[in-house]
Amino acid sequence: MNEMSHGPGDRSRADAIQALAGVRGVLFDLDGVLYRWEQAIPGACEFVKFLADAGIPYAALSNNSQTGPENLRDRLARLGMHFPLERIITSATAAASYVAKLWPGSRVHVVGSSYMHQAMANVDVQCVGPDAEKADVVALGMSMDLTMVQLAEAVRMLRDGAELVATNPDAMLPVPGGFQPECGAVAALLEMAGGRTARFVGKPNPEFFTQGLAAIGRSAGETLMIGDTLEVDILGATQSGLCSAFVATGNPIEGEPDIEPTVFVDDLFELRRLLQAGRTG
Ligand SMILES: [Mg+2]
Repeated sequence: MNEMSHGPGDRSRADAIQALAGVRGVLFDLDGVLYRWEQAIPGACEFVKFLADAGIPYAALSNNSQTGPENLRDRLARLGMHFPLERIITSATAAASYVAKLWPGSRVHVVGSSYMHQAMANVDVQCVGPDAEKADVVALGMSMDLTMVQLAEAVRMLRDGAELVATNPDAMLPVPGGFQPECGAVAALLEMAGGRTARFVGKPNPEFFTQGLAAIGRSAGETLMIGDTLEVDILGATQSGLCSAFVATGNPIEGEPDIEPTVFVDDLFELRRLLQAGRTG
């Protein structure tokens, strides 16, 4: 690159290009990175196309347990981004795999969206309803249809010794006009009333990243995670040995963050320029 000036900004830009030069695979967070509501974020379509043209495999790791991979694939396609179904991994599918792996054949009581119920029905466990005398596991995902009665049933099962598995630790989800509580907030209620500690399977859990890496056939050291939430996307990437890019197109940063991504970028246009610069030398 021929730089016209050589201020400190150019130095950090050169460092960023170098830090990203070895990237051979990409994992995306979705909300706040590729879209917000039903709108593509500027630069997202161009970025995905750049990866496809460059032969860089990519997958999505979403903490959202309220929507299934088919819906997410269709939404991305409507917005102009092609994602194969097997490259879209949600915390609900991950929770189902996790429970089936740790406690095969166990009695699982699901509290969450219809998709969460469906994901759990697809694995080797026995789903039990609220009237069941006992459950081995309470599997919690988010749904805006949850009622206090349902949570009270889950609390009874937890008090009777059930394990608590939750999809994601996020406290809130930005929505048009404000925020909604997310799974982490409901899990806190169940932890407090049920006397159990939740195991969270979505980001930042490194096992979730392992599933994403398997989907693209890449190792952690050659893969870039792109996210808009320091506490889940960037923390999980760092703990899993991936490099990471924080894009400022989604969640606002709260307070003084002590989690550092490999690079901070304004948007995916900037990130594409950095990756291109590293590839062309
Ligand atoms: Mg996000």
